[in-house]
Amino acid sequence: MAGDVLLRLEQVKKTYIMGEVTVEALKETTVDIYKGELLVVLGPSGSGKTTLLNMIGGMDRPTAGRILFGSKDLSQVNDRELTLYRRREVGFVFQFYNLIPDLTAAENVSLAAELVDDPLPVDRLMEDIGLGDRKGHFPAQLSGGEQQRVSIARAIVKQPLFLLCDEPTGALDYATGIKVLGLLQEICSKRGNTVIIVTHNMPVADMADRVFRMRSGEIVEITENPEPVPAERIVW
Ligand code: ADP
Ligand code: MG
Repeated sequence: MAGDVLLRLEQVKKTYIMGEVTVEALKETTVDIYKGELLVVLGPSGSGKTTLLNMIGGMDRPTAGRILFGSKDLSQVNDRELTLYRRREVGFVFQFYNLIPDLTAAENVSLAAELVDDPLPVDRLMEDIGLGDRKGHFPAQLSGGEQQRVSIARAIVKQPLFLLCDEPTGALDYATGIKVLGLLQEICSKRGNTVIIVTHNMPVADMADRVFRMRSGEIVEITENPEPVPAERIVW
C-alpha cells in the first residue's frame, strides 16, 4: 500500500530513565504512516504501543530520531508548535473515554470544535454517529458504547488528519466493541482520516489495511491486508 506519506519516523527512540533502571519503551524505529490508511498496532501489554502512538500524536518527544511531518521535524519544533500540531491534526480516543463529566455529550464535542477553524457541524455529526437523541445527556447517563461514540465525535469534529485510538474497545463488551470498531472503519473509509487503532486483541488485525506487530519496544513485523474484513465480521 504505497500511499502518500503523512508522517515519517526516522530512527525514533524513546527511553525512560527510572532511577537506576532504563526502559527502552521504543527501540530505534523507522516507519512511514500513510494518508487515509487504517493501521492496527498489535502487541502484548508493555510492548510499546502507547509509546509509539504518543510519538505519532505529538503527546511526547522522542529521546532520539526525527518525526517528519511535511517539512517539519516534530522532535525539534517548540512546545507551541507541537501543541498546534496536536490540536489541529490529531484526535485521540482512549480506553476510558475521558469525557468531561459535567458537560453534556454535545458540549463535550463543541468544546473540541472550538479548538480549530473549520470544525464539522456538531449537531449533524452527533446524528451521523448515532447520538442524535443523546446530545443533552451527561456522560454518567450514557452507556460505555455511547460514551465512546461521544469521544470519537469529539476527536473527529476537528477534522484531524490522524485519529489515534488507544485500546478503544478495552472497556466495552464484545458486541459494543465490534460496533465501535465498525464506526472507526467507516470514518476511515468515508471521511479519509488516517485511523490508528492500538490493541492487544489479535483478531482486530483483520480489519486493517496494515498491521504493525510489536514486541519488547520494537515493530517486529509489518503486514498488509489486500482485503480488509468489515469489523462486523471479526470474531474473538
Ligand atoms: P503498551 O502500550 O504496549 O502496553 P507502553 O508503551 O505503555 O506499552 O510501555 C512500554 C514500556 O515503557 C513499558 O515497560 C512501560 O512500563 C514503560 N513506560 C511507558 N511509559 C512510561 C513512563 N512514562 N515512565 C516510565 N516507563 C514508562
Ligand atoms: Mg498502552
